[in-house]
Amino acid sequence: MKQVTNTPLGEGVLWFVTGSQHLYGDETLKQVADHSQVIVKALNAAAQIPVQVLFKPTVKSTEEIYTVCQEANSDKNCIGIITWMHTFSPAKMWINGLKILQKPLLHLHTQFNRDIPWGDIDMDFMNLNQSAHGDREFGFMVTRMRRNRKIVVGHWQDEETLQSIGGWARVAAAWQDWQGAKFVRFGDNMRYVAVTDGDKVEAEYKFGFSVNTHGIGDLVKVINATTDEAVDKLIQEYEDTYKLATTLTKDGAQRQSLKDAARIELGLKAFLQDGNYKGFSDTFEDLHGMSQLPGIAAQRMMAAGYGFAGEGDWKTAALVRAMKVMGAGLKGGNSFMEDYTYHLDPANPLVLGSHMLEICESIADGKPSCEIHPLGIGGKADPVRLVFNVAAGDALNASLVDMGNRFRLLVNTVEAVAPEHDLPKLPVARVLWKPHPDFKTGLAAWILAGGAHHTCYSQNLTAENLEDFADMANIEFVVIDKKTNLYELKKDLRLGEVYYR
Ligand code: MN
Repeated sequence: MKQVTNTPLGEGVLWFVTGSQHLYGDETLKQVADHSQVIVKALNAAAQIPVQVLFKPTVKSTEEIYTVCQEANSDKNCIGIITWMHTFSPAKMWINGLKILQKPLLHLHTQFNRDIPWGDIDMDFMNLNQSAHGDREFGFMVTRMRRNRKIVVGHWQDEETLQSIGGWARVAAAWQDWQGAKFVRFGDNMRYVAVTDGDKVEAEYKFGFSVNTHGIGDLVKVINATTDEAVDKLIQEYEDTYKLATTLTKDGAQRQSLKDAARIELGLKAFLQDGNYKGFSDTFEDLHGMSQLPGIAAQRMMAAGYGFAGEGDWKTAALVRAMKVMGAGLKGGNSFMEDYTYHLDPANPLVLGSHMLEICESIADGKPSCEIHPLGIGGKADPVRLVFNVAAGDALNASLVDMGNRFRLLVNTVEAVAPEHDLPKLPVARVLWKPHPDFKTGLAAWILAGGAHHTCYSQNLTAENLEDFADMANIEFVVIDKKTNLYELKKDLRLGEVYYR
């Protein structure tokens, strides 16, 4: 079984289901099954596909199709099914199966033979290699049933085809990960804030994860139960991993703050593990009994794969978790992010993204430094945090918005740029980017679409990944990219109002 390191991608399996019918006779059906197995073997050998693909016997009747869909639903490792019609599979046979199928669906529109054998082609070849019309019959039924699915077109050995299947597999794993997932909020939403809040009942219905609150005292109790020995061990790890500020070193004046921070991390980790949580949110407005706002603790929990967002923002915490599952094992990282401040030089306008403390080191360029500085809000002791820059390159910001009658997943592709200046007095992790298609259009589009100031910033996912995710959730997807213009975007948003009403 394939494994992705540091995974929440887990033990996901895709089922490969080939559709046919009894019309052709045993000889042809044997060839169909043989060819499907060759394809499955190739998909399993492909580095682009991070999960195992499981061959399923060819389905040839309404009953067989219904049964395989039922089994896929109840198999907890099955993250989705890939269908392919090597021959013709009359699609009325698919109605009952597709009606009950709850797993994500990828329709692979491929053909066993890449090339037409010009000199040898005869009617036997034509009868076997029929996906050009067999897949249309199947596709009609999925469309007729208004079911979202991914369609991947291309030869099964083609690099692009494998890349598409692999990307979708990551998304399907994230979707599976959300089903039954638990997220915890310590305290409520930041008072009066709108965009970070939303309908948790609707979210559980739509997305499959639950969000529940614990008073901060429940966490404080676990933090206080942490042993000094465990704290010392974690501090050793900090020393081995980061550049420690002088005041935090062994005889430094603020060593106690580092111990407090380590104790918070250990308590938080124990709380999340005991409760089987996949992510969390906290708020600086509710820290009773805590010495400092979790900075390095939140950062390191994110690096370990947990979802996180500040100020009670459970939607972004869940999204960060999902995007971490999608990106597991890929170069680059995914982090909670906030559009913080602007550089409005008309010749080179930029967004500076950051948060008070909590940016994930998975997006760090180089070794983070571990520092301590005053926070200015919250009225607690100075929090310890990791400080770093983020490398230049393609990236995106994603935001999950509750529109009242629907959820919208909004994505803006961006180009991160290397900082041209040192920021000696800015004691937080930060990144600079240019939004697509350009600064003014990108920002106006984001605000028109109701995007939050909180996002998940990704270095290794594409807008297509998130579109696939929105399709699995059956929610609205809006992208702001190089092709966006405001006139078309406004039309899309109006269309969404009608479609999702
Ligand atoms: Mn914030």
